[in-house]
Amino acid sequence: MLLGQSWVGIRIGYKVTEAGAGRSVASASMKTHVHISVSLFCSPTSRSTIVGLMNVPTSDLPKALRERVNASIDQLRNAVGEYKNLCYANSLGSESVVLTDLIWESLPEIEIFTIDTGRLYPETYDLIERIEQRYGRALKMYYPDAADLEDWVGKHGINGFRDGLDQRHGCCGIRKVAPFRRAIQGFGAWVTGIRRGQSASRALAAPVEWDGEYGIHKISPLLDWSEKEIWDYIRKKRLPYNSLHDSGFPSIGCAPCTRAVPPGDDARSGRWWWERTDSRECGLHPRRKGSPLPVTVTPKA
Ligand code: SF4
Repeated sequence: MLLGQSWVGIRIGYKVTEAGAGRSVASASMKTHVHISVSLFCSPTSRSTIVGLMNVPTSDLPKALRERVNASIDQLRNAVGEYKNLCYANSLGSESVVLTDLIWESLPEIEIFTIDTGRLYPETYDLIERIEQRYGRALKMYYPDAADLEDWVGKHGINGFRDGLDQRHGCCGIRKVAPFRRAIQGFGAWVTGIRRGQSASRALAAPVEWDGEYGIHKISPLLDWSEKEIWDYIRKKRLPYNSLHDSGFPSIGCAPCTRAVPPGDDARSGRWWWERTDSRECGLHPRRKGSPLPVTVTPKA
């Protein structure tokens, strides 16, 4: 069946068996069974349509979660009214799949992009593909400047970011911050998926802030969501998510700089774990002066 660029096929097979086969015809009481199998196969775009049909509408979510969703969408809508063109820097964590769903379902005029540092986990690339299949559209990708990266790796080595904070910031600067600066060019504000519960530094964030580092407003519509609400939304809406979350990764970044953490530990403690806790940000969300000690988050149910 053709649906524009999409196609859906149904394969029906059958097999006939006879109970008592192998015995003498005279002695067996023969019964004929017909086994019918039906399987569905389809193009990626049709798959997203089918997933969409399985989707749970926001109106069917529990009241408290629905109110969270509506508050976040209202905040984004107000930001679009105020700052006109917005972009969302998708980090591909659990908050990101929620925010991607809110944006592509309700405010598709907000551009979503992600930065491929070249050091992501294979599971993260797999998530990108599943997101694209679900929504039937491609994520805008930004990459580090090849010449700058070749120069940096030539001087410091492939994993030179482990040699000190300056080297780590140098690697994040080329692989993340520089592509990010290019990505936000021309936008009135950028959207982030940070939550207060993620770290002591993020606990001090405000829903709308002037980001002096990049000269642009920063909108954080998930700031007050709990980790449990994030996962309730993912499960109820059957959203694709990074399979590493099921292996103890509350926060997922580059493979050599992220590891699993014990349940109940600070959500960011698996990032740059060899550094002091007060330096563990990537440059997109610099640490605030006077941040209290790390907060403990509720483990994923
Ligand atoms: Fe480099 Fe690690 Fe930063 Fe990724 S997280 S850009 S590998 S220092």
